[in-house]
Amino acid sequence: MTFISHRLDTFDSRDFREAIQKQSTLANPVNLSVGVPEELTPEHVKAAGIHAILSDKTTYTPANGLLELRQAIADKLNAENNIPCTAESVTVVPGLTTGQLLVYLAVLDPGDEVIIFDPYYPPYPHLATMVGARVVYVSTLPSFQPDLATLEASITDRTKLIVINTPNNPSGAVYPEETLRKLATIAEKNNILLISDEIYEQFVYEGKHFSIGSIYPNTITMNGFSKAHAMTGWRLGYMTGPQEIIDAINELQQYTVFSSSSIAQHAAIAALKHQTPQVLQKYKKKRDMVVSRLQRSGYSVMGAQGAFYAFVKAPHNLTDIEFVNRATEHGLILLAGRAFSQLHGYVRISYGADLALLEKGLDILDVIAKQLP
Ligand code: PLP
Repeated sequence: MTFISHRLDTFDSRDFREAIQKQSTLANPVNLSVGVPEELTPEHVKAAGIHAILSDKTTYTPANGLLELRQAIADKLNAENNIPCTAESVTVVPGLTTGQLLVYLAVLDPGDEVIIFDPYYPPYPHLATMVGARVVYVSTLPSFQPDLATLEASITDRTKLIVINTPNNPSGAVYPEETLRKLATIAEKNNILLISDEIYEQFVYEGKHFSIGSIYPNTITMNGFSKAHAMTGWRLGYMTGPQEIIDAINELQQYTVFSSSSIAQHAAIAALKHQTPQVLQKYKKKRDMVVSRLQRSGYSVMGAQGAFYAFVKAPHNLTDIEFVNRATEHGLILLAGRAFSQLHGYVRISYGADLALLEKGLDILDVIAKQLP
């Protein structure tokens, strides 16, 4: 007899938990498993958070967030992403991931189908299944770009939602504007809602980021402060989309999160006011080094045009778990591909880490590639 709900029957976050555990048990781990940028929260953002505490801005805020923050977000989305929105059509959430759950709760009924491109950010399918929806995976192999014919063939009269994530975690793929325009046409023809997770929009090394919400109004554009402003622990995200859906999410927020952290919101206002130092060139250098060194070691690397991940196939036909275990024996922590994909034999390498750690990790990956099977 268990008290645990069947809702959790297929919920599985063990790969992440194990990676975190390894970090604390290995002596000097080379941790390339975490999706965290190496930068620290900028000083002016920290100062704004501290100021919020010292000036007692520590009470609940409106469920959808402080007006000043929502206005700053709306200005950013209009100016940088060409997404027409107002402070009213923006809602602030305690991290994009919680925001994703709120969207699912607001729009999905049991039996509705959600299309998710494989590989994917792990919460997408788990949260969808948890609310009773059916996940339909569309593989993006071998290029990690969506194949639109396969996408169309996967649409049924139960398809309610397609989740898009560009630049992509874990493949690093950046979807071209042309692909996204065609995808929007398909969604419109079939009356499908889109979620566009754009949390890595600043990290583009090849091509250009394009927001599908600028051309397709039935898009919920989601973003946050974790990666762009090095604020993963502050837990703050936001979204905009059709007013009816934003209103429903605000209704839900009122009795679930109640309000996002007031301190984080004041810090986020400062983050949007003053440009965070540009890190793109540094990340491009890291990306170039990771790709060329992995290729030299014999790994095949596709995608990797953006974000800070490479999703690579294990050598010697090792399973992802065998590969991750072999890496752990050398002190290197990676995430098993099964957390991100229905495909077998992949691992995710994060190059959010600093250069010195990355080089150590790449040395170990080279040794593993050259070991006998
Ligand atoms: N979306 C994607 C695609 C991610 O990879 C991550 C973190 O790794 C997030 C969202 C997390 O966003 P947040 O910290 O705002 O929950």
